[in-house]
Amino acid sequence: NAVATPRELRILLAGPRGFCAGVDRAVLIVEKALERFGAPVFVRHEIVHNRFVVESLEAKGAVFVDELDQAPDDRPIVFSAHGVPKSVPSEAQRRNMIYVDATCPLVSKVHREAERHHREGRHVVLIGHEGHPEVVGTMGQLPEGAMTLVETVSDVAKLDFDDTTTLAHATQTTLSVDETAGILAALRDRYPDIQGPKKEDICYATTNRQAAAKKVAQQADAVFVIGAPNSSNSKRLVDVAHQAGCPKAQLIQRANDIDWSYLDGVGTLGITAGASAPEVLVTEVIEACGKHFDVTVEEVVTAVEDVEFKLPRVLVA
Ligand code: SF4
Repeated sequence: NAVATPRELRILLAGPRGFCAGVDRAVLIVEKALERFGAPVFVRHEIVHNRFVVESLEAKGAVFVDELDQAPDDRPIVFSAHGVPKSVPSEAQRRNMIYVDATCPLVSKVHREAERHHREGRHVVLIGHEGHPEVVGTMGQLPEGAMTLVETVSDVAKLDFDDTTTLAHATQTTLSVDETAGILAALRDRYPDIQGPKKEDICYATTNRQAAAKKVAQQADAVFVIGAPNSSNSKRLVDVAHQAGCPKAQLIQRANDIDWSYLDGVGTLGITAGASAPEVLVTEVIEACGKHFDVTVEEVVTAVEDVEFKLPRVLVA
């Protein structure tokens, strides 16, 4: 009996992919806090949007809660990489809690800019996705009513500021570069004097992962984006692959999620991972492909990253 040889599958791996410097730092902060203070260490919100990461930290003694009032006064608490409204650290202070802020420095930068605009009398228009923790955190830097959220070009058309209002813009860090450019153009068109950064606040990691995904998607018959369904930057990678003309692009959390019939007729498969997805999950997916196909793996590198952020002082002393 002849054993059928498996079909060939060419895998194009996007580079860069996966963990960014902000996620790396946030995970390390929880690990260091556990070393320093012992378990349990409480974490407000998923430290980064990935079940695998959250469960590995839970196994080491981290306890994830939705709100501060679910954590006791006498245990340390870490705030997630997405950032928190100002009310959260002030409540922690009021309760005399030890808290460690894992907000990505690139998100903090957006917070400080928003504060500066507010101080200088400008109303801030924030481009982002309603309800995303980063948006909740950024809006919570200013008093209620000092910031307006827009999600689409048609939201811009609905804005209604009088001539005396001076404006500034800010964005969520994990948006689609191309879509945001359109929204920003619409804002500048309506309000030519609006102030803000030259391009947007989309971070280097989001920009680089989208560029690499685009390059891979242009050459692939299908793309897998490894990431969580609540991860904004991962979802944008799926959008980018579609927009690059790839007929199939799908978000998967891990190898178990793969419906192998999805790869019927696929000769070249692109693989990338969102900024909160660890590399072990990429390896797992490639290995699973290797069990079904005769795979070759090539990396398509569009940028090399060397960004690193310092840890908060409380953990390095
Ligand atoms: Fe920071 Fe960008 Fe990573 Fe978000 S995606 S944690 S802003 S580096």
